[in-house]
Amino acid sequence: MNKKKITKLHSQLESIRSELLGDVEKSNQSVKESEIGQIADISDDAARAYSRQLEGELGEQEWKKLKQVDLAIKKISDGEYGICAQCESVIPEARLEVVPYTEFCTQCLSEMEKNSKVISINDENSFEEN
Ligand SMILES: [Zn+2]
Repeated sequence: MNKKKITKLHSQLESIRSELLGDVEKSNQSVKESEIGQIADISDDAARAYSRQLEGELGEQEWKKLKQVDLAIKKISDGEYGICAQCESVIPEARLEVVPYTEFCTQCLSEMEKNSKVISINDENSFEEN
């Protein structure tokens, strides 16, 4: 993938990220203001605490998406972006343009969807035992 394309997808990811964080940032305005002096060198612990706080504010789906977006951005800086996390094959650019934060190629994803159906059936069974 060429640099120009990666840059474009990177900015797409950043805008998805700020969209997801938008509402949370607003409701956490007072917290943010008190932390503003420390933001420049935020420690891992502070980042983790902030993450936990976000986890409570975001819906499960949004939180999942945010983590995928973060991971994709990290992969860009590591030079591993666009590689399927499952089979390590190159994810088609057309797919990345639609879902820039995807971790898996289309094939692996459909495999996982099949498997997750099986898992959810099993979950229901074990739930009945309780
Ligand atoms: Zn794959």
